[in-house]
Amino acid sequence: MAKRFRRVLVKLSGEALAAHDGYWFDPKILAGFAHDIVSATAKGYEIAIVIGGGNIIRGARMSAAGWIDRATADAMGMLGTVMNSLAIENAINAAGVSARTMSAVSMPTICETYARQPALRYIEKGQTIVLAGGTGNPFFTTDTSAVLRAAELRCDAVLKATQVDGVYSADPKKDPSAIRFEQLTHDEAIAQDLKVMDTAAFALARENKLPIIVGSVHFPSSITAILEGTAPSTVVVP
Ligand code: UDP
Repeated sequence: MAKRFRRVLVKLSGEALAAHDGYWFDPKILAGFAHDIVSATAKGYEIAIVIGGGNIIRGARMSAAGWIDRATADAMGMLGTVMNSLAIENAINAAGVSARTMSAVSMPTICETYARQPALRYIEKGQTIVLAGGTGNPFFTTDTSAVLRAAELRCDAVLKATQVDGVYSADPKKDPSAIRFEQLTHDEAIAQDLKVMDTAAFALARENKLPIIVGSVHFPSSITAILEGTAPSTVVVP
């Protein structure tokens, strides 16, 4: 059966990697995520990953305290995403699939600098690329990086991994009558003020007609299950 989405950019929040005691990384979570990537790759999906940095630093929050300017705090946030990317690269390699970190912020002694053409070649060779350093610019988020890279690497969709299994009409933790949308258009999400991604990221996805799949990756082989439609999700389409 032809795949609806074959080349997919998976966006994971940095907080998803954190241990219960607050330490940046939980190796079990990293291994579970890597296993998911390996099983999706074995099924023929081409996966690129953007990981946030929220388990380490979020620039807007840090600079709000007033002792550091936003651009510097964002630079630190971008460095956090590189650390997370290296942790994920390590876990995926250990699970048996070749992964390669490419950073928008050049640091050649640590990892390769992101460039579109080599990134496309690695994907075509079956490697998993982990796109670090956000967009390389302050005042952006890794949601925007995810949409930007998905558009330039000709991905069929962005899979945004969240705590919940889709987009709901209200917060399902607070409102038991909240319903999950199976499918929405970008315009419907805006009209109903449903927060799928931050505004800049969502606008870029809408402009580039890029589908966004929202789902939870908190169970084994969840990426494959979401992409194959056997696990719940919401798909936002043009
Ligand atoms: N960041 C940035 N430019 C980018 C992407 C990220 O400056 O293009 C910084 C920003 O400070 C952000 C932090 O990196 O708060 C971590 O990224 P994000 O908040 O998106 O992480 P997540 O919430 O997904 O864990």
